[in-house]
Amino acid sequence: GHLPEDTTVRELVQAAYDRHRHVADGVVATYIPQLADADPAACAASVASVTGSAFEVGDAGVRFSIQSVSKPFVLALVVEALGADRARNLLGANATGLPFDSVMAVEVHDHRTMNPMVNAGAIAATSLAPEVADLRGGDAGAASAWDVVLAGLSAFAGRRLAVDDDVYACESGTNLRNRGIAHLLHSYGRVHCDPDVATDLYTRQCSVSVDVHDLAVMAATLADGGVNPMTGERVVSDRTCAHVLAVMATAGLYELSGDWLWEVGLPGKSGVSGAVVTVAPGKGGLAVWSPPLDDAGNSVRGQLITRSLSHVLGLNVFASA
Ligand code: GLU
Repeated sequence: GHLPEDTTVRELVQAAYDRHRHVADGVVATYIPQLADADPAACAASVASVTGSAFEVGDAGVRFSIQSVSKPFVLALVVEALGADRARNLLGANATGLPFDSVMAVEVHDHRTMNPMVNAGAIAATSLAPEVADLRGGDAGAASAWDVVLAGLSAFAGRRLAVDDDVYACESGTNLRNRGIAHLLHSYGRVHCDPDVATDLYTRQCSVSVDVHDLAVMAATLADGGVNPMTGERVVSDRTCAHVLAVMATAGLYELSGDWLWEVGLPGKSGVSGAVVTVAPGKGGLAVWSPPLDDAGNSVRGQLITRSLSHVLGLNVFASA
């Protein structure tokens, strides 16, 4: 079935938000000024249903950089263009159990595949964007890799997104570790364009500016089998969505993904700006944004609000009733 009627969902989201918005645990990321300057009290939540309704509570007008929440959506574009088997062979689908920026993630599995929800696997996925652009070139002309990524993220959101140039400049000045990961991947043949180009594309995708409503719609598009419920556009296939949700479940909240599944029972993805998106397949998408993070880099209030909503809305995919 679908989510309960709109007024009920709205009341439940407001209640979960009111209950957790003052929780004071966690610390805001500080590695770039745009994140360090975020208001630690800020908090917003949004739900978008597959039937096309959406609403927000809290500081929903604030924009922030999408960061790692971009990973499942770029993966979806790559899986759609390259086919599921080839994408899995190149990128991997198993849990790493390691932090988001782990270099060891590259060393865990045979054939040096990773999981596209951690940086190593995400950089490998983004390194396929030039090939995706080439594949589309037949009918789309000289589409560049970046155009493909930005247009794809925008189709998920249902509006034309843009990079925050200040975030992109600062991220580019602090991404030596990701460049190192890309060069390590390159040494194993696991990066599919120039490793510095791959890191730059990845850095740009992390710097795209969104609000909590955008993220809820993006998640709802995955919940709706790849059709954006607001625009009606088919962005990717339902099979692609199912594969993406599987890797979100294995590593979407990094080394705490098992705890997340235990508590919430839904595929989710967090990012260092404090966003968490969650997908209830066939029902809708949920996004929470609140900057203070736990030790793994996941929004503290984002996890609490999502956990409450999963319970009261009965969304846990492992629950029989
Ligand atoms: N730009 C960050 C990085 O790749 C994103 C990390 C995250 O959102 O967890 O280092």
